[in-house]
Amino acid sequence: MTIRKKSAAYVLTRSRRRTLAIHIKADGSVEVRAPLKLARSEIERFVAAKSAWIAQKQAQISAARLDAPRNPPVSEYASGGFCAAVRRLVTEWERRLGVEAAFVGIRRMYSRWGSCTAGTRRIRLNAMLEYCPQECLEYVVVHELAHLRENNHSPRFWAIVAEALPDYKARQAKLKERQWVLGARGGDGR
Ligand SMILES: [Zn+2]
Repeated sequence: MTIRKKSAAYVLTRSRRRTLAIHIKADGSVEVRAPLKLARSEIERFVAAKSAWIAQKQAQISAARLDAPRNPPVSEYASGGFCAAVRRLVTEWERRLGVEAAFVGIRRMYSRWGSCTAGTRRIRLNAMLEYCPQECLEYVVVHELAHLRENNHSPRFWAIVAEALPDYKARQAKLKERQWVLGARGGDGR
């Protein structure tokens, strides 16, 4: 059967139901629920017709899995909206810079806006970026991800940043204006 080759692998469960249904399980596997006597060829045709939808669902599941270990500890340091913005920016800039971070965390830090441990590909962003303009957050994301390509502050590194964000110096300046936010621990007025 040629149709079969095109359709996804699935487990077929027959019961006294009247309709055909496809279920994508949490692990991405596919279960087709069919009436007891429905011809296999009908089922195949149905699955083949739904193959794009199945592939899309499976892709969503594997993308969610990929994201899971990288989800910053949301409630502890930052709002859900900020975490979502971070994830969106990181995903976009990973693609554009051709790099992939193994872990992206959001932490309250007092001396820097972000950090990158190139060896383990771990990136940390300062939770206080939530209170800075989006363009500053984007700059820090690009800066830290660029370290996955060039783990220093050499001219080569800055060339990567400049190519990604031609106005990065203006963004740096904006961030510098907000330097006081970093030390806003309440008291020592750094
Ligand atoms: Zn740096």
